[in-house]
Amino acid sequence: MTANKNQRPTWTVINLDNLAFNFHSVKRFIGSDVEYMAVVKADAYGHGAIECSKRLETEGVNWFGVAIAEEGVEVRHAGIRIPILCLGGFWHGQEQTILEHDLSAVIFSVDMARELNKIASENGLTAKVHVKIDTGMGRIGIRNDQIFEFIDKLKTFKNLELEGIMTHFAVADDLTENEFTNMQIQRFNASVNIFENNGFYPKYRDLANSPGAIVHKQGRGNLVRLGGVLYGLGGDVLPAEIEKPELKPVLSLRSRIAQLKFVSKGEALGYGKTFTTGRDSLIATIPIGYHDGLPRLLSNRGFVIVNGVLVPIAGRISMDWTIIDVTEVPNVMVNDEVIVVGSDREILIKAEDIAREVSTISYEITCGINRRVVRKFVGEYESN
Ligand SMILES: *Cc1c(COP(=O)(O)O)cnc(C)c1O
Repeated sequence: MTANKNQRPTWTVINLDNLAFNFHSVKRFIGSDVEYMAVVKADAYGHGAIECSKRLETEGVNWFGVAIAEEGVEVRHAGIRIPILCLGGFWHGQEQTILEHDLSAVIFSVDMARELNKIASENGLTAKVHVKIDTGMGRIGIRNDQIFEFIDKLKTFKNLELEGIMTHFAVADDLTENEFTNMQIQRFNASVNIFENNGFYPKYRDLANSPGAIVHKQGRGNLVRLGGVLYGLGGDVLPAEIEKPELKPVLSLRSRIAQLKFVSKGEALGYGKTFTTGRDSLIATIPIGYHDGLPRLLSNRGFVIVNGVLVPIAGRISMDWTIIDVTEVPNVMVNDEVIVVGSDREILIKAEDIAREVSTISYEITCGINRRVVRKFVGEYESN
């Protein structure tokens, strides 16, 4: 959805200039020796994959990363020309889709390689693949002890081009686990050697997500895969105590007051009657609920900003509505803007702050903003 006057006033503002700023800031920090993949999976972590991709392509990123083939198709359809890697590979039956849309695919089993090779050869095409090595994450990837067998098979698949070899860090954000990350890097380098000894010289060697790229210089390979830092979400996925590039928040989440009412002292509000007014109060209802990305766990705990004043959430957050106590806000009126994520005057609420309050990371907060929330973009995103 894009913004339109006739819609419910609950919206995100996506600042594409800040997105571009973050990319250049990170690039200055890391340097130009590596290529840059912008990870735009999960609708760019809730920021809008199409608009973010268009802008980042103009800014000079080299690659896009998506989780699934469907997302790759969406980005390709938006007119993106640069390479797109499906980080989660593809599912049986999607081989044709990968080839048709010129997507590169991660593969992590002989079966995947065989299937893709078969469909590619039937179409007289070559499929571009990145082999994923599991060096310690324990999620997808070929384990070290299966590499030889995998390579033997790979040699027989003539319609695959081994474009990259990659792995993924488990604890790159945790400095007390540097030994583990270094072990992952060593295992990865050993795997690359095995491929090279068998005549495979993939162009790309990539390991690093945001914390990996910022913290572990020796783990950057020649391509870094960046999600979080591009969206300015450094506050919880980067260690606090390190030197890091300046990042600006890209997303702000806003709504408006739908109703205002005076409620006498001693009345209970909302589902479960979990909040009781401790004074005669001015109570506002806002059209945003947990379906819109405001976690229900913030019930009676979270805060929003109204006219520059931090105000508490009163009672349970419901699916579509939230009650707030605006007694302290001077001259508050129906239709006044409410900032759920963002800043007004001296007050700032970051996605990281909300995440901390509900024991998660900022990614889950921005990804949790449903598509019924209208998106407004600040800054250019059309490349022509
Ligand atoms: C999501 C993802 C990334 C990006 O991670 P960030 O922490 O957001 O930078 C990189 N690589 C892979 C394989 C991923 O799935």
